[in-house]
Amino acid sequence: MPINTRNALNFSGGPGALPEIVLRQVQTAIIAVPEVGLSILGISHRSDWFAGIVRETEENIRALLNLPEDFHILFLQGGATQQFSQVPMTLLRGRRHAADYLDTGYWSRKVIAEAMREGPVRVVWSGERCGYRRLPREEELTFSPDAPYLHYVSNETVEGLQFHRILGRDDVPRVCDMSSDFLSKPCQADKFSLIYAHAQKNIGPAGVTIVLVRDNVVQSAPQNLPAFLDYRRHVEAHSNLNTPPVFAIYVVLLVTRWLRDQIGGLDNMARINHRKAQRLHAAIDDSDGFYRHWGDGDDRSDMNVAFSLPDAAREKRFFADASLAGFSGLEGHRALGGARASIYNALEPAAVERLVEFLDDFRRRNPR
Ligand code: PMP
Repeated sequence: MPINTRNALNFSGGPGALPEIVLRQVQTAIIAVPEVGLSILGISHRSDWFAGIVRETEENIRALLNLPEDFHILFLQGGATQQFSQVPMTLLRGRRHAADYLDTGYWSRKVIAEAMREGPVRVVWSGERCGYRRLPREEELTFSPDAPYLHYVSNETVEGLQFHRILGRDDVPRVCDMSSDFLSKPCQADKFSLIYAHAQKNIGPAGVTIVLVRDNVVQSAPQNLPAFLDYRRHVEAHSNLNTPPVFAIYVVLLVTRWLRDQIGGLDNMARINHRKAQRLHAAIDDSDGFYRHWGDGDDRSDMNVAFSLPDAAREKRFFADASLAGFSGLEGHRALGGARASIYNALEPAAVERLVEFLDDFRRRNPR
């Protein structure tokens, strides 16, 4: 018996659904972690057990992504938002040349605003003119060889636009916000210098942000940063500089075990995720314009499917009926309106089938 069938139909944009098997392990661990006999909420972050949890989580992520040796894996706080600042504090402060940033949607705009506080920024391409309905084509991009780094968002969570290729030049460090597609597929980490992703989409609860950062980036940080914002200090402390989010890191460990043992690695996860997305995108495309995608074809995301309904009255009825049918989290981001189905790792193909049936049924019952 599922713990709660509504979890299975939770299409939330984040925090997102977690695998049922993980929720069951968490349920047990809230009372007592089997090998410790204490609640996960009351185990010291200075215990040997917790050091082992951090180590195993790192090892699992390293193995899942085939991560090169010179990458450190950090479990930090402050969300992806803290990385919007910590990245330019590390790599841009006091630099003469502008960093290259891509402005591809809601989250890019937030990232750029923070980077501009720290140093010069050049917006390589902006989606503003096309209403953030597509991503740039390769021929529209010219990257600067002098930029201290290039930053982009791999998956724009709000608009449902995802890069299906790697951007930039090999001689300029790539920095990427992978918050909404991290560990949903392989990511060619060897092409990047720094990758960050908060946990609450594909890999755990809110409260921990994972940063993969190369040693040369860590060592290049200015010496006078506050300890909490200095990657160097977090590396030295093995993500235990101050009290880390023990619970959130433990859940990430359980999810990485699930990815390895139940899913069979990130190639398999990517295949499953892509099939789910194709099914949903096709249902929208085949609806005779009743449902309309936010984004253009090539850049559609395997994670977030943003779409609209014919009018406000139908939209209102759609959310009400969806809730009655057991679905949740289908409301679009407040910045965009409309609807959005987020189909992260833990959302099973059967749930997507249920949503496709619901979309068809709703359309038949509410013809234009
Ligand atoms: N980047 C992306 C791509 C996101 O989707 C979000 C939040 N959904 C953020 C950054 C902000 O993350 P946080 O709330 O952890 O600061």
